[in-house]
Amino acid sequence: MVEVRLAGIELGGTKCIASLASADGTILEQETLPTLAPEQTLPPLAALLAKWRSAGPLAAIGVASFGPVELDPAAPNHGHVTSTSKPGWRDTDVLGALRAGHDGPWGFDTDVNAAAVAEGRWGAAQGLADYAYVTVGTGVGVGLIVNGLPTRGLAHCELGHIRVARRSGDAWPGACPYHGDCVEGLASGPAIKARLGERAIHAIASDDPVWDEVAHPLAQMCHTMLLTTAPRRILFGGGVIQGQPQLIGMIHAALRESVAGYMTVPEAADFCCAPGLGDKAGPLGPVALALAALDHHAQAGARVAA
Ligand code: ADP
Ligand code: ZN
Repeated sequence: MVEVRLAGIELGGTKCIASLASADGTILEQETLPTLAPEQTLPPLAALLAKWRSAGPLAAIGVASFGPVELDPAAPNHGHVTSTSKPGWRDTDVLGALRAGHDGPWGFDTDVNAAAVAEGRWGAAQGLADYAYVTVGTGVGVGLIVNGLPTRGLAHCELGHIRVARRSGDAWPGACPYHGDCVEGLASGPAIKARLGERAIHAIASDDPVWDEVAHPLAQMCHTMLLTTAPRRILFGGGVIQGQPQLIGMIHAALRESVAGYMTVPEAADFCCAPGLGDKAGPLGPVALALAALDHHAQAGARVAA
Protein backbone atom coordinates (compact mmCIF):
# COMPACT_ATOMS: atom_id res chain seq x y z
CA MET A 1 0.00 0.00 0.00
CA VAL A 2 1.28 3.47 -0.87
CA GLU A 3 1.96 5.48 2.26
CA VAL A 4 -0.16 8.63 2.63
CA ARG A 5 2.13 11.66 3.06
CA LEU A 6 0.72 14.76 4.73
CA ALA A 7 2.37 18.13 5.29
CA GLY A 8 1.54 20.44 8.19
CA ILE A 9 2.81 23.96 8.79
CA GLU A 10 2.46 25.46 12.26
CA LEU A 11 2.96 29.19 11.95
CA GLY A 12 3.76 30.43 15.45
CA GLY A 13 4.49 33.86 16.83
CA THR A 14 8.17 33.08 17.36
CA LYS A 15 8.83 29.96 15.27
CA CYS A 16 7.32 27.86 12.51
CA ILE A 17 7.38 24.06 12.52
CA ALA A 18 6.90 22.24 9.22
CA SER A 19 6.17 18.53 9.48
CA LEU A 20 5.95 15.77 6.91
CA ALA A 21 3.90 12.98 8.47
CA SER A 22 2.10 9.75 7.75
CA ALA A 23 -1.62 9.25 8.39
CA ASP A 24 -1.05 7.80 11.88
CA GLY A 25 0.69 11.01 12.97
CA THR A 26 4.23 9.66 12.68
CA ILE A 27 6.58 12.53 11.85
CA LEU A 28 8.76 11.58 8.87
CA GLU A 29 10.62 14.87 8.55
CA GLN A 30 10.45 18.13 10.47
CA GLU A 31 12.03 21.56 10.16
CA THR A 32 11.85 24.56 12.48
CA LEU A 33 12.34 28.12 11.22
CA PRO A 34 12.19 31.42 13.10
CA THR A 35 9.12 33.57 12.37
CA LEU A 36 10.62 36.69 10.79
CA ALA A 37 8.85 39.09 8.41
CA PRO A 38 6.35 37.35 6.06
CA GLU A 39 8.63 37.71 3.01
CA GLN A 40 11.46 36.04 4.94
CA THR A 41 9.28 33.32 6.46
CA LEU A 42 6.68 32.18 3.92
CA PRO A 43 8.91 31.58 0.83
CA PRO A 44 11.27 29.15 2.67
CA LEU A 45 8.23 27.25 3.99
CA ALA A 46 6.71 27.13 0.49
CA ALA A 47 10.08 25.90 -0.86
CA LEU A 48 10.13 23.14 1.76
CA LEU A 49 6.64 22.04 0.72
CA ALA A 50 7.78 22.04 -2.92
CA LYS A 51 10.78 19.88 -1.97
CA TRP A 52 8.56 17.38 -0.15
CA ARG A 53 6.14 17.39 -3.11
CA SER A 54 8.94 16.65 -5.55
CA ALA A 55 9.94 13.60 -3.48
CA GLY A 56 6.42 12.13 -3.66
CA PRO A 57 2.78 13.26 -3.71
CA LEU A 58 1.35 15.14 -0.73
CA ALA A 59 -2.16 13.79 -0.12
CA ALA A 60 -3.18 16.92 1.79
CA ILE A 61 -1.66 19.91 3.52
CA GLY A 62 -2.66 21.72 6.70
CA VAL A 63 -1.81 25.23 7.85
CA ALA A 64 -2.27 26.30 11.48
CA SER A 65 -1.55 29.94 12.17
CA PHE A 66 -1.31 32.39 15.00
CA GLY A 67 -4.30 34.71 14.87
CA PRO A 68 -6.43 36.47 14.33
CA VAL A 69 -7.09 34.77 11.00
CA GLU A 70 -10.05 34.79 8.59
CA LEU A 71 -11.56 31.30 8.56
CA ASP A 72 -14.68 31.99 6.48
CA PRO A 73 -14.08 30.38 3.05
CA ALA A 74 -16.52 32.87 1.51
CA ALA A 75 -14.57 35.92 2.72
CA PRO A 76 -12.27 37.60 0.19
CA ASN A 77 -9.44 37.53 2.72
CA HIS A 78 -9.93 33.89 3.71
CA GLY A 79 -6.62 32.42 4.86
CA HIS A 80 -5.17 35.77 5.87
CA VAL A 81 -3.70 36.74 9.21
CA THR A 82 -5.80 39.86 9.83
CA SER A 83 -5.49 42.46 12.60
CA THR A 84 -2.34 41.24 14.32
CA SER A 85 -0.03 43.63 16.11
CA LYS A 86 2.91 41.48 15.00
CA PRO A 87 5.06 43.79 12.87
CA GLY A 88 4.66 43.21 9.12
CA TRP A 89 2.05 40.44 9.40
CA ARG A 90 -1.17 42.44 9.29
CA ASP A 91 -3.40 41.31 6.35
CA THR A 92 -0.95 38.64 5.16
CA ASP A 93 -2.24 35.84 2.93
CA VAL A 94 -0.52 32.95 4.71
CA LEU A 95 -2.72 30.20 3.25
CA GLY A 96 -2.32 31.50 -0.32
CA ALA A 97 1.48 31.58 0.04
CA LEU A 98 1.64 28.02 1.35
CA ARG A 99 -1.08 26.47 -0.84
CA ALA A 100 0.52 27.58 -4.12
CA GLY A 101 1.42 24.51 -6.18
CA HIS A 102 -0.80 22.15 -4.18
CA ASP A 103 -3.90 20.82 -5.98
CA GLY A 104 -5.21 18.45 -3.30
CA PRO A 105 -7.25 18.89 -0.13
CA TRP A 106 -6.05 21.40 2.45
CA GLY A 107 -7.07 22.52 5.92
CA PHE A 108 -6.63 25.90 7.58
CA ASP A 109 -7.32 26.97 11.16
CA THR A 110 -5.87 28.74 14.17
CA ASP A 111 -2.90 27.12 15.90
CA VAL A 112 -4.94 26.38 19.02
CA ASN A 113 -7.95 24.96 17.12
CA ALA A 114 -5.52 22.75 15.20
CA ALA A 115 -3.85 21.52 18.41
CA ALA A 116 -7.32 20.71 19.74
CA VAL A 117 -8.10 18.69 16.60
CA ALA A 118 -4.79 16.79 16.99
CA GLU A 119 -5.63 15.99 20.62
CA GLY A 120 -8.99 14.61 19.45
CA ARG A 121 -7.36 12.38 16.87
CA TRP A 122 -4.29 11.13 18.70
CA GLY A 123 -4.17 12.64 22.19
CA ALA A 124 -6.15 13.08 25.39
CA ALA A 125 -9.50 13.91 23.77
CA GLN A 126 -9.88 10.80 21.60
CA GLY A 127 -13.51 9.71 21.27
CA LEU A 128 -14.87 13.06 22.50
CA ALA A 129 -16.99 15.34 20.30
CA ASP A 130 -17.10 18.23 22.77
CA TYR A 131 -13.92 19.36 24.48
CA ALA A 132 -11.51 22.27 24.71
CA TYR A 133 -7.79 22.83 24.44
CA VAL A 134 -6.53 25.82 26.41
CA THR A 135 -3.04 27.21 25.92
CA VAL A 136 -1.53 29.57 28.46
CA GLY A 137 1.67 31.07 27.07
CA THR A 138 2.39 34.43 25.49
CA GLY A 139 -1.41 34.69 25.24
CA VAL A 140 -4.38 32.64 26.40
CA GLY A 141 -5.99 30.74 23.52
CA VAL A 142 -8.84 28.27 23.42
CA GLY A 143 -9.57 25.68 20.76
CA LEU A 144 -13.23 24.93 21.41
CA ILE A 145 -14.55 21.77 19.78
CA VAL A 146 -18.33 21.45 19.53
CA ASN A 147 -20.00 18.47 17.81
CA GLY A 148 -16.56 17.35 16.61
CA LEU A 149 -15.52 20.62 14.97
CA PRO A 150 -13.80 23.84 16.06
CA THR A 151 -16.37 26.61 16.50
CA ARG A 152 -16.97 29.01 13.61
CA GLY A 153 -19.03 32.14 13.24
CA LEU A 154 -18.13 35.78 12.91
CA ALA A 155 -14.71 34.81 14.23
CA HIS A 156 -12.83 31.96 15.84
CA CYS A 157 -13.06 31.35 19.57
CA GLU A 158 -11.46 34.16 21.56
CA LEU A 159 -12.36 33.05 25.08
CA GLY A 160 -8.97 34.24 26.32
CA HIS A 161 -10.31 37.80 26.08
CA ILE A 162 -13.53 37.40 28.06
CA ARG A 163 -14.00 39.52 31.14
CA VAL A 164 -14.38 37.51 34.33
CA ALA A 165 -15.34 38.01 37.96
CA ARG A 166 -12.24 39.14 39.84
CA ARG A 167 -10.87 37.26 42.80
CA SER A 168 -11.91 38.96 45.97
CA GLY A 169 -9.13 41.27 47.16
CA ASP A 170 -7.33 41.33 43.80
CA ALA A 171 -7.48 44.72 42.13
CA TRP A 172 -4.39 44.46 39.90
CA PRO A 173 -5.44 46.19 36.64
CA GLY A 174 -4.22 43.46 34.27
CA ALA A 175 -2.03 43.65 31.17
CA CYS A 176 -4.26 43.23 28.10
CA PRO A 177 -3.85 46.34 25.91
CA TYR A 178 -7.53 46.06 24.91
CA HIS A 179 -9.29 44.96 28.13
CA GLY A 180 -6.88 45.22 31.04
CA ASP A 181 -8.09 42.44 33.29
CA CYS A 182 -9.54 39.94 30.78
CA VAL A 183 -8.33 36.33 31.24
CA GLU A 184 -5.27 36.89 29.04
CA GLY A 185 -4.60 40.17 30.83
CA LEU A 186 -4.41 38.27 34.13
CA ALA A 187 -3.05 34.82 33.28
CA SER A 188 -0.72 35.00 30.24
CA GLY A 189 3.04 34.71 30.75
CA PRO A 190 3.63 38.43 30.05
CA ALA A 191 0.77 39.34 32.43
CA ILE A 192 2.28 37.22 35.22
CA LYS A 193 5.67 38.82 34.58
CA ALA A 194 4.13 42.30 34.74
CA ARG A 195 2.44 41.44 38.04
CA LEU A 196 5.66 39.99 39.48
CA GLY A 197 7.69 43.10 38.71
CA GLU A 198 11.25 42.40 39.81
CA ARG A 199 10.71 38.73 40.67
CA ALA A 200 11.66 36.33 37.84
CA ILE A 201 8.85 33.99 36.79
CA HIS A 202 11.13 30.93 36.79
CA ALA A 203 12.17 31.59 40.37
CA ILE A 204 8.62 31.62 41.81
CA ALA A 205 7.78 28.61 44.00
CA SER A 206 4.93 26.37 42.88
CA ASP A 207 2.96 27.24 46.06
CA ASP A 208 3.45 31.01 45.72
CA PRO A 209 0.15 32.94 46.13
CA VAL A 210 0.60 34.43 42.64
CA TRP A 211 -0.54 31.12 41.14
CA ASP A 212 -3.94 31.54 42.85
CA GLU A 213 -4.28 34.83 40.96
CA VAL A 214 -3.49 32.97 37.72
CA ALA A 215 -5.69 29.91 38.36
CA HIS A 216 -8.71 32.04 39.29
CA PRO A 217 -9.33 33.78 35.92
CA LEU A 218 -8.65 30.52 34.06
CA ALA A 219 -11.21 28.77 36.29
CA GLN A 220 -13.68 31.59 35.59
CA MET A 221 -13.14 31.08 31.87
CA CYS A 222 -13.79 27.35 32.33
CA HIS A 223 -16.95 28.20 34.31
CA THR A 224 -18.22 30.13 31.28
CA MET A 225 -17.26 27.32 28.89
CA LEU A 226 -18.90 24.69 31.06
CA LEU A 227 -22.16 26.64 31.02
CA THR A 228 -22.10 27.40 27.29
CA THR A 229 -20.77 24.57 25.11
CA ALA A 230 -20.24 22.18 28.07
CA PRO A 231 -16.96 20.50 27.08
CA ARG A 232 -16.54 16.98 28.45
CA ARG A 233 -12.81 17.55 28.99
CA ILE A 234 -10.55 20.61 29.10
CA LEU A 235 -6.86 20.18 28.23
CA PHE A 236 -4.29 22.72 29.38
CA GLY A 237 -0.99 23.34 27.57
CA GLY A 238 1.43 26.18 26.82
CA GLY A 239 4.58 27.43 28.50
CA VAL A 240 2.95 28.67 31.72
CA ILE A 241 1.16 25.36 32.37
CA GLN A 242 4.22 23.31 31.38
CA GLY A 243 6.29 25.33 33.85
CA GLN A 244 3.61 25.21 36.57
CA PRO A 245 1.69 21.94 36.16
CA GLN A 246 0.13 22.38 39.62
CA LEU A 247 -2.09 25.02 37.99
CA ILE A 248 -4.29 22.33 36.41
CA GLY A 249 -5.45 20.98 39.80
CA MET A 250 -5.80 24.53 41.14
CA ILE A 251 -7.99 25.54 38.18
CA HIS A 252 -10.18 22.47 38.73
CA ALA A 253 -10.61 23.26 42.44
CA ALA A 254 -11.42 26.92 41.73
CA LEU A 255 -13.86 25.88 38.99
CA ARG A 256 -15.74 23.57 41.37
CA GLU A 257 -15.90 26.33 43.95
CA SER A 258 -17.14 28.83 41.37
CA VAL A 259 -19.81 26.52 39.88
CA ALA A 260 -20.95 25.98 43.48
CA GLY A 261 -22.87 22.76 42.90
CA TYR A 262 -25.08 24.21 40.15
CA MET A 263 -23.93 21.38 37.91
CA THR A 264 -21.58 18.45 38.36
CA VAL A 265 -17.96 19.19 37.59
CA PRO A 266 -16.36 15.80 36.81
CA GLU A 267 -13.32 14.60 38.79
CA ALA A 268 -10.07 16.37 37.90
CA ALA A 269 -8.41 13.31 36.36
CA ASP A 270 -11.21 12.96 33.79
CA PHE A 271 -11.90 16.61 33.24
CA CYS A 272 -8.95 19.00 33.63
CA CYS A 273 -5.97 17.27 32.05
CA ALA A 274 -2.60 17.82 30.41
CA PRO A 275 -2.51 17.37 26.62
CA GLY A 276 -1.85 13.76 25.65
CA LEU A 277 0.52 14.81 22.88
CA GLY A 278 2.58 17.09 25.13
CA ASP A 279 4.49 19.64 23.10
CA LYS A 280 3.75 17.68 19.91
CA ALA A 281 0.13 18.95 19.95
CA GLY A 282 1.25 22.17 18.22
CA PRO A 283 3.18 20.68 15.28
CA LEU A 284 0.71 17.80 14.88
CA GLY A 285 -2.18 20.29 14.75
CA PRO A 286 -1.82 21.17 11.05
CA VAL A 287 -1.18 17.50 10.22
CA ALA A 288 -4.53 16.70 11.87
CA LEU A 289 -6.13 19.49 9.79
CA ALA A 290 -4.65 17.93 6.62
CA LEU A 291 -6.02 14.53 7.59
CA ALA A 292 -9.47 15.98 8.34
CA ALA A 293 -9.44 17.68 4.92
CA LEU A 294 -8.50 14.37 3.29
CA ASP A 295 -11.32 12.54 5.12
CA HIS A 296 -13.77 15.25 4.10
CA HIS A 297 -12.63 15.04 0.47
CA ALA A 298 -12.99 11.22 0.46
CA GLN A 299 -16.50 11.44 1.95
CA ALA A 300 -17.56 14.07 -0.60
CA GLY A 301 -16.17 11.84 -3.38
CA ALA A 302 -18.09 8.85 -2.03
CA ARG A 303 -21.33 10.90 -1.99
CA VAL A 304 -20.81 11.92 -5.62
CA ALA A 305 -20.12 8.31 -6.63
CA ALA A 306 -23.23 7.00 -4.79
P1 ADP B 1 3.89 30.86 22.92
O1 ADP B 1 2.59 31.15 23.58
O2 ADP B 1 4.55 32.09 22.36
O3 ADP B 1 3.83 29.71 21.95
P2 ADP B 1 4.84 29.30 25.18
O4 ADP B 1 3.62 28.46 25.15
O5 ADP B 1 6.15 28.59 25.15
O6 ADP B 1 4.92 30.40 24.05
O7 ADP B 1 4.76 30.16 26.52
C1 ADP B 1 5.69 31.15 26.79
C2 ADP B 1 5.36 31.77 28.15
O8 ADP B 1 5.54 30.78 29.18
C3 ADP B 1 6.26 32.93 28.47
O9 ADP B 1 5.48 34.08 28.74
C4 ADP B 1 7.02 32.48 29.73
O10 ADP B 1 7.19 33.53 30.65
C5 ADP B 1 6.12 31.40 30.30
N1 ADP B 1 6.91 30.44 31.07
C6 ADP B 1 8.00 29.78 30.67
N2 ADP B 1 8.51 29.02 31.68
C7 ADP B 1 7.70 29.21 32.75
C8 ADP B 1 7.67 28.72 34.10
N3 ADP B 1 8.60 27.87 34.56
N4 ADP B 1 6.68 29.12 34.90
C9 ADP B 1 5.74 29.98 34.44
N5 ADP B 1 5.71 30.49 33.20
C10 ADP B 1 6.68 30.12 32.36
ZN1 ZN C 1 -8.07 41.04 26.36
